[in-house]
Amino acid sequence: MEIGGRVLEPTADEFRRLLSTVVDYLCATVESLPDAPVARSDGIAELLADPRLRQAPQEAGRPLGELLEVIDRAASKGFNPSHPGLLGFVPGGGIVTAGVADLVADVLNRYTGQATPSPGLVAMETDVLRWLSDLFDLPEEAAGILTTGASLAVLSALITARTALLPADFLDGTIYVTAQTHAHVAKAARLLGFPSEAVRLVALDAGLRMDPAALQASITADRAAGRRPFFVVASAGTTNTGRVDPLAAVADIAADKGIWLHVDAAYGGFFQLTERGRKALTGIERADSLALDAHKGMFLPFGTGCLLVRDGRLLRQAHSMGDADYLQDLRGSTLPDFADYGPELTRDFRGLRLWLPLQLHGVAAFREMLDEKLDLARFAHRELSTVPGLILSEPPELSTFCFRLSSEDATAELLRRVNDEGRVYLSSTRIDGQFVIRLCVLNFRTSLSQVSDAIDSLCRHTAGLAAEM
Ligand SMILES: *Cc1c(COP(=O)(O)O)cnc(C)c1O
Repeated sequence: MEIGGRVLEPTADEFRRLLSTVVDYLCATVESLPDAPVARSDGIAELLADPRLRQAPQEAGRPLGELLEVIDRAASKGFNPSHPGLLGFVPGGGIVTAGVADLVADVLNRYTGQATPSPGLVAMETDVLRWLSDLFDLPEEAAGILTTGASLAVLSALITARTALLPADFLDGTIYVTAQTHAHVAKAARLLGFPSEAVRLVALDAGLRMDPAALQASITADRAAGRRPFFVVASAGTTNTGRVDPLAAVADIAADKGIWLHVDAAYGGFFQLTERGRKALTGIERADSLALDAHKGMFLPFGTGCLLVRDGRLLRQAHSMGDADYLQDLRGSTLPDFADYGPELTRDFRGLRLWLPLQLHGVAAFREMLDEKLDLARFAHRELSTVPGLILSEPPELSTFCFRLSSEDATAELLRRVNDEGRVYLSSTRIDGQFVIRLCVLNFRTSLSQVSDAIDSLCRHTAGLAAEM
């Protein structure tokens, strides 16, 4: 008997068979990951023209088996962030137990925008946020919200700081970033109605970190010119180079000048679980707000970030709309109503994606994984620094570094040849306008095997390119 059909509620037996079909598919997919190609760019036009993929929904349904085949085919092109060889961008890998949590949360389908409908589940999500606040030594009054990613986290951070520090006419409010700050800050500023000149680029030091003296000078000059400096973003691991801004020095200036310190820890934040990470991130505990991406350093599937705010009341003040009449039955819980702490009202039960893996695997499992990634990145840097012709950035502070050949064309060709082999996938960026290859170890599935593959491939193709010159 085919599962599905016109009945929206399968019987218990049908549901079981439906899940077991899906589980068989997912287990086979995960099992085949190491041998599957990490990226495929061939046949995309055919894929996009495939009528099985592009068929509009019909009056009658289609069999689940057929639909899983369509999904599998659709997922077969592009690059695969679950693959252990993904060393480009900022990979996380996607632990399957977070997927299990999503399934449980979705099938339970409880409402967590407010605490009254789901006090127990909201308490669990609150406990996850408390655990995160404790990880960064934030005070008791800290509060937070799980978001879809750092982009929404910084949007809420910016509106919180704006509400707390600027008058209703906020257009001369000024925000400080560097040329290495992720573009999500400027995007949030634009979405909130700040003019582009509100975002100031602070000079970098030779190591591509924010120069605190330049920050101090910019703030002083802007104040003298009648602007209102109110928000500075320090990166706890930039996307380009993994560098950590001098957090303590920036915190000193922010405190002295009375401006809000937001730490963008989207990439690097969870290294705080490790001893070396905690050392590299010293000063992060002084943030007024802090953004994290659990879909990076906690290896979750895409879609989970977090904002933590030192003074939780300010986060609530900026987002709470007070009481809407149609929600009057939901008042009165002593737990936080998440709708008062972020832009969303209705939301998925995001907390379980963190709660279940943390409780199931234990914190040490994550710490050990992150430590291994720090080791692998250092190892890769050490090995590549012996390859004639490769020009490397400083050794990684966290798990990212960049390198290039002497010419841009050769660097681009090196990247193409390495990626074309299909075993590992690296990405590129520009530093000071110069094209560089970037290696980032953060997928939990990445082990010595893939890092060795990457080193081997880079060595061979660097030598090959040198021979062709
Ligand atoms: C990924 C990243 C972001 C953006 O986060 P999203 O989750 O994609 O919104 C911001 N800052 C840094 C440093 C990042 O690595």
